[in-house]
Amino acid sequence: MTRDTSVVLHEVFGFTSFRGAQAAIVERTVAGEDSVVLMPTGGGKSLCYQLPALLRPGVGIVVSPLIALMHDQVEALRLLGVRAAYWNSTSSAEETAATRRAVQSGELDLLYVAPERLLLPSFLSVLQQVADDAGIALFAIDEAHCVSQWGHDFRPEYLRLAEITAHFPGVPRIALTATADPITRTEIFERLGLVGATEFVSSFDRPNIRYVVEEKNETRAQLLRFLESGDDGDSLRGEAGIVYCQSRKRTEEIAAWLREAGYDAIPYHAGMANDDRSAAQQRFRREDGVVVVATIAFGMGIDKPDVRFVAHVDLPKSLEGYYQETGRAGRDGEPAIAWMAYGLADVVQQRSFINGSGGSPEHRRVDQMKLDAMLGYAEASTCRRRILLAYFDEQSGDCGNCDTCLNPPELWDATVPAQKVLSAAIRTGQRFGAGHLIDVLLGKRTPKVEQWDHDQLPTFGVGADVSDREWRSVVRQLVARGMLSPDPARMGALVVTEAARPVLEGGAAVQLRRVQAPVARVKKPRTA
Ligand code: ADP
Ligand code: ZN
Repeated sequence: MTRDTSVVLHEVFGFTSFRGAQAAIVERTVAGEDSVVLMPTGGGKSLCYQLPALLRPGVGIVVSPLIALMHDQVEALRLLGVRAAYWNSTSSAEETAATRRAVQSGELDLLYVAPERLLLPSFLSVLQQVADDAGIALFAIDEAHCVSQWGHDFRPEYLRLAEITAHFPGVPRIALTATADPITRTEIFERLGLVGATEFVSSFDRPNIRYVVEEKNETRAQLLRFLESGDDGDSLRGEAGIVYCQSRKRTEEIAAWLREAGYDAIPYHAGMANDDRSAAQQRFRREDGVVVVATIAFGMGIDKPDVRFVAHVDLPKSLEGYYQETGRAGRDGEPAIAWMAYGLADVVQQRSFINGSGGSPEHRRVDQMKLDAMLGYAEASTCRRRILLAYFDEQSGDCGNCDTCLNPPELWDATVPAQKVLSAAIRTGQRFGAGHLIDVLLGKRTPKVEQWDHDQLPTFGVGADVSDREWRSVVRQLVARGMLSPDPARMGALVVTEAARPVLEGGAAVQLRRVQAPVARVKKPRTA
């Protein structure tokens, strides 16, 4: 660390030392090199570009898609005496003119811009002039995962950032994100033109977050039970939290229902008016004990430190999304819980959605891989944190702070039941859903069974020794493993895949998790 660096760190930012990789990142950026920074939320990404911008001549250009955050950051920097400004759609003509004058006359240390602004010819000509004159200290590309076409935060404007920064050779670029599975990571390097950049990866572990997954039977009752008694008997009433759902309608319903149960719950989704959405955000941020029931639209830029729980009542589409969403809990370092209820319908629905989507085969393949990783986590019988971290290429031991560590699941040899389900699917012509297959196995004479003469099948009633609930769990795990797959051509029908062949023909063993007790309680003590 040069003297300048430590002086600025202390005197401007008021920090006594760097955290983690910050020192190395700052040093490289000051030296004019490119880097890609992967750091979890709250890890201290801002300093990685703010400090070099002060140490290098000229203005640091920060590209950020989050207007609200831009605002907050600029305010905070100004309080520290840093000459910062933003340039986005919320600026008035006068403000824009003043910012333009300031940047042109070399009076700014940091300028935050929205990506679509950066692309405007008028802005680019200002930038060119600044480059020739006072100079550009660096380009920081925040929320760099927005360049990923596979992610739900995709911003088409990000695809053009490589082209623009290439106009200014010699200006270091630093791309930062808190979301980066291997696919997104490759995209950041390639699409942002950062092929030669150094990658800095911080640990993604959030040790104070406890991960718990429960088998879903009755969403509402289970959610309520979770809120009433946490995962270990401590009520979460009065705590701030987020409940993520897959649909807008469901956020409204669950919020209304939680309000009836006495919770201060409010919905949040992209279909709400802008004013209502910002009011919800404000309430969540400023008041205590607000529960936001949201779609993934409630996301980037939530920086409330004391969120005590994040609950998922539907299965997320990817593990990176899940990590990001659960990462909003416990930013203050105090114990927090990431709870999820997940069931057969979730896995069938998500698989059907992908199988039946009109996307390109490549797109489908990526979606399938992402979902498989998510299912690997949901169905885990080993430490969940290990699985989560392994997805980000990070090795770790058993954490002692997830449900599978605290309460190891019972495994059973389900080879025979698996064969029964698979042959029931084959014998019924692979045109029925889970419910009907289970009815056949249990030997129930439902109208549908009689209509199709399925009571005549050799598989009829062969599974009466296993409970309905256990069967659902078996089917769910087989769908999760891809041995049964929803037929894109026939709503709800499950077909037997190639992956099932070793089990059907060779008797390959199938180890499954036993269904959990109705209430998944994990043992005390609750430690961080
Ligand atoms: P991120 O953008 O990665 O989510 P921030 O840049 O907002 O994280 O930093 C998170 C918090 O950590 C902020 O409150 C910031 O002031 C603090 N912080 C960052 N770097 C340091 C440091 N070296 N020493 C102490 N606090 C730091
Ligand atoms: Zn664990």
